[in-house]
Amino acid sequence: MNTIHDNLFAIKNEIEKIASKCERDPNTIELIAVSKTKSVQQITEAIDAGQLAFGENYVQEGIEKIKYFKQAMPNSALIWHFIGPLQSNKSKFVAEHFDWMHTIDRLKIAQRLNDQRPTDMANLNVLIQVNISQETSKSGIAAEEVADLAKQIIALPNLNLRGLMAIPEIENDFDKQLKAFTKMHELLRSLQADYPCMDTLSMGMSGDMQAAIVAGSTMVRIGTAIFGSRQYL
Ligand SMILES: *Cc1c(COP(=O)(O)O)cnc(C)c1O
Repeated sequence: MNTIHDNLFAIKNEIEKIASKCERDPNTIELIAVSKTKSVQQITEAIDAGQLAFGENYVQEGIEKIKYFKQAMPNSALIWHFIGPLQSNKSKFVAEHFDWMHTIDRLKIAQRLNDQRPTDMANLNVLIQVNISQETSKSGIAAEEVADLAKQIIALPNLNLRGLMAIPEIENDFDKQLKAFTKMHELLRSLQADYPCMDTLSMGMSGDMQAAIVAGSTMVRIGTAIFGSRQYL
């Protein structure tokens, strides 16, 4: 069986290969290791292999890990990304512990995060989640509504609006994956005219990383390909 260390190096290699094929600088593509359901031992193995950015989906699980590593490795420069759906009554925990929040889909959540961000912490980096495949069951807002929300988030002093995030409908066909991701890239480009601070496109998971990078992703969120498949209790 491959170790987490081997998997991380294989993924980084893969990112470099894809980047060079589509003539992108691999340093503009950040790897977020999605560690949901994985133990602090497994995360430690990834840290030992040089990984510093981690993504968590569940508030309680995420803050337990963040607190653990603050104690266990006070000098490590870990960056924690909240990538799951967030209920407004739990926003305080994200505001108080995370560095990035990927799934803003309404003003109310943004306002709460802004109000709850402790003054001694750096601004919270936030992304607007876009429902790019227009699935009724998925979270994220419609592409047409993003510009309005962006305008309102920009005005919040304790948040830095950094870009967009999407989880497109699962597709095995590369061209279909590419189409959804390309729409996201075009949407970001159109917003960058007014908001140059929006420099981030969070898209691409273990099953569609290649298409995401070809389409311009700057942050891939990879879980299974690093840590193996997840077992939910
Ligand atoms: C679980 C998850 C991932 C990682 O998915 P894998 O297929 O395991 O790479 C990425 N992004 C989000 C939002 C997730 O919930």
